[in-house]
Amino acid sequence: MIPKSHPRYESLMKREKIIEGFKKGIVAHAGLIAHGRGETFDYLIGERSEDFALEAEKVAVAKMLLAKNAVISVNGNVTALAAKEVIELADNIGAKIEVNLFYRTEERIKKIVEEFRRLGKDILGEEPDAKIPNLEHSRALCTKDGIYSADVVLVPLEDGDRTKALRDMGKFVITIDLNPLSRTAQTANITIVDELTRAVKNMIDFAKNMNVEEAKKEVEGYNNYTILAKSLEHIKKRLENLSMELQSSSGLKT
Ligand code: ATP
Ligand code: MG
Repeated sequence: MIPKSHPRYESLMKREKIIEGFKKGIVAHAGLIAHGRGETFDYLIGERSEDFALEAEKVAVAKMLLAKNAVISVNGNVTALAAKEVIELADNIGAKIEVNLFYRTEERIKKIVEEFRRLGKDILGEEPDAKIPNLEHSRALCTKDGIYSADVVLVPLEDGDRTKALRDMGKFVITIDLNPLSRTAQTANITIVDELTRAVKNMIDFAKNMNVEEAKKEVEGYNNYTILAKSLEHIKKRLENLSMELQSSSGLKT
């Protein structure tokens, strides 16, 4: 048991969820490593939702509310960390959920589908009947009713190649990725540089308080390059400040 008073409580709890998901066969080996990469960037950001994240989250919700067919793509890590929250978000914005794995095995697909069913939600992806062009077989598999025909897709913790393939299909792609330098972050239409669980919770709050008229206003003038630049600027300033504090503590500052 991790005591609530532990300074790294939140972070350690997320780790526990990933480990639990791995033991259940939901998270892949590579998912453990991907989580570590995310943790690193969250440490640099300061483990909170900054303005650049909140702005992207709000516009993302607006885009999904206005979509004809919005789909949230889930993988092992997303399921282990935030299945309940993803369901709540989907219900609030009228989106479908589809399982799609980088390391696809039928067993893991089944376990993820079952995990969502246990929480009361039927999701797509167990019986794919379409393919995303220009991706190798198993990663390309998707469903006609879901990702294949979606106009807006939310792909949290996604791989760069698939993000590009979805953009090439003409879809509006939203990602949640703590690494603003990843190919996914750089390729998506909206990049939410925030931790998955925090991001989805913020998005649920935005969704509960937004109507269609407000959504139409929100999507105007959004610029993803500005958002990415702001996130890098934030990390840079934070590191500069921390470095200055250390220099003054050591008496080195001139
Ligand atoms: P890309 O293929 O886009 O260049 P990558 O190969 O560096 O990215 P992947 O393993 O494909 O990385 O994708 C995982 C991404 O998800 C990483 O960029 C990581 O920072 C991010 N990530 C991991 N855990 C979380 C989390 N809990 N919340 C948000 N982002 C996360
Ligand atoms: Mg990748």
